[in-house]
Amino acid sequence: MKDYEITIGLEVHAELKTNTKCFCSCKNEFGGEPNTHCCPICVGMPGALPVINKRAVELTIKAGLCMGCDINDIAVFERKNYFYPDLSKAYQISQLVRPICLHGGVKLDSGKFIRLNRIHLEEDAGKLVHKSETVGTLIDYNRGGVPLIEMVSEPDMASSDEALEFLAKLRENLIYADIAECKMQEGGMRCDVNVSIREKGQKEFGTKVEMKNINSFKAVERAINFEVERQKDILKSGGKVRQETRRWDDVAGESSSMRSKEDSKDYRYFPDPDILAIEIPRENVEKLRKELPLLPAERKEKYLGEYGLSQYDTNLLLSEKVYSDFFEACVKLYNKPKSVVNWIQSQVLTLIKDEDEKEIKISAKNLTEIIEMLEKKEISQQDSRTLFAKCWEENIDAKEYAKKTGMLSTLSEDELEKIMDEVLSENPKACEDFKSTPDKVMPFFIGQVMKKTKGKANSEVVRKYITEKLK
Ligand code: ADP
Ligand code: ZN
Ligand code: MG
Repeated sequence: MKDYEITIGLEVHAELKTNTKCFCSCKNEFGGEPNTHCCPICVGMPGALPVINKRAVELTIKAGLCMGCDINDIAVFERKNYFYPDLSKAYQISQLVRPICLHGGVKLDSGKFIRLNRIHLEEDAGKLVHKSETVGTLIDYNRGGVPLIEMVSEPDMASSDEALEFLAKLRENLIYADIAECKMQEGGMRCDVNVSIREKGQKEFGTKVEMKNINSFKAVERAINFEVERQKDILKSGGKVRQETRRWDDVAGESSSMRSKEDSKDYRYFPDPDILAIEIPRENVEKLRKELPLLPAERKEKYLGEYGLSQYDTNLLLSEKVYSDFFEACVKLYNKPKSVVNWIQSQVLTLIKDEDEKEIKISAKNLTEIIEMLEKKEISQQDSRTLFAKCWEENIDAKEYAKKTGMLSTLSEDELEKIMDEVLSENPKACEDFKSTPDKVMPFFIGQVMKKTKGKANSEVVRKYITEKLK
C-alpha cells in the first residue's frame, strides 16, 4: 500500500473588536435587527467615500506583533472584485500586494513552527439568510463592512491535529491581546481549509482543494479528515485530484464540489482609489507592542518555570483568559502561586465550570486575604470556605467580615500555641481521659482555651492542634 503525506494550509478570518466598522461609523455589533447597522458607505452606494478606521489598523498591527510578523511601513488597500449578493458594491476592500503584516508564525507544543505568509485587513461581507418560511433568500448587511483580519498560513501543517493546534493558538493570542473575541458560533472566527496529499517522498505538493468558511474546530477536523480520505481514494484508483473549491456540509459530514478554484487574477485586484496608502511609523508599532499583555506562550513559560506549576495547573489557568488574569492578579498580591492555583481550581472553578459566562465573583484581594488568613492559621479551614462563599455572593471585605464575625483570631499563632500547651499541662487528668473519650473531653479543652484567650481563639484550630498533640 502506498503511503501518503498530508499538507494543510489555513486562511483564518477573525472579526476585530472595534466599536465601529472598518470604513464607516456604523456599529460593529453582532446581531441586531437586520439591516439596522448600515449606511450608504457600508452598503456601497455609488459615490459614498470610505474612511479607514484607525483602531482596525492598530488591532491588525497588534495581531501581527502577537504572531511575530514584520509590519510593513506602508500598507495599501485594494479592491477585490466579485459579484455575489452578500456584497452589494461588487468588490470587497482588501489587501493583496502590501498587506499590513508579513511572515511570522506560531510554534506548536511539539516545537514545530507553522509559518504565516501574511495578515491583512479587509471588510466582512453581509450575510445571506435562508429561511424556510420566506420565499427566496434574505440579506442582512449588518455584518458588511465589519473589520476582518485574514491570517494566511504557509502549507506547513501535516495533520488535522496540527491544524487544530495552530488554529487554537491563533485564537488564544487574539483573545488574550483583546484584538478579537473569536466567537466561533457567531462566525467571529472562520477559516478556509486547504488540503492536499502526495505520495511519501514526492517533492512537489499535490493538488489542493479548498473548503471555505468553516466555523468550528470540530468541523475543521472532520472536513480535513474527510478530504484526505476522498483524495486518497481518487489517487488509489488512478485518478487525479481536481483543483477546486468544495463546500463542507457539517451535518451530512461530507463535502461537495462548488466551483473550480478561482485565481487571484480572476478578482482583478487594483488599488482602491478612494483610500490612500497608509503609513505606519516605527514608533507607532513600538507603542502598540508595549500595550500587549503577556501572551499565552509567555505565561505558560512563566507558570511552568518561575512558578513551578504543573503542566495540568498551567493548562487549566490558560484555558480561559479570565482565569489566567485572575491568577496573575492574585499572585501579585500574595506571592504563593501554588496556593492560589489550588484555590482557583478547587473553589473558583467548581462554581463557574458549567457557566457560559466565566465570571469570577470574588476579588483577587478577598481571595488572597482568605488564603493568607488560612495559611497563617488565623481562620479555620471551614471558616475559610464559609468566607469564600460569602464573598462570592456579596462584595464584602473578607478580612473585616472575618473580624466582625469572630472567625479571625487576633492572636498570633505562637501565642495561641503557648496557651494551648498551658491548658494541656494544667490538666493531666483530662489528657488521660482524652485517650478513651476524646469527644467528651474536647469541649472542655476548647472551653479552657477560649477562657484564657477571651474567646479569640478559633475552635477549629484548637481542635486540630490538641488532637494532633495528644496523639
Ligand atoms: P491561492 O492562490 O490558490 O489562493 P495561495 O498560495 O494563496 O493559493 O494559498 C492559499 C492557502 O492554501 C494558503 O494557506 C496555503 O498555505 C495553502 N496551500 C497552498 N498550496 C497548498 C497545497 N498544495 N496543499 C495544501 N495547502 C496549500
Ligand atoms: Zn456603514
Ligand atoms: Mg489566496
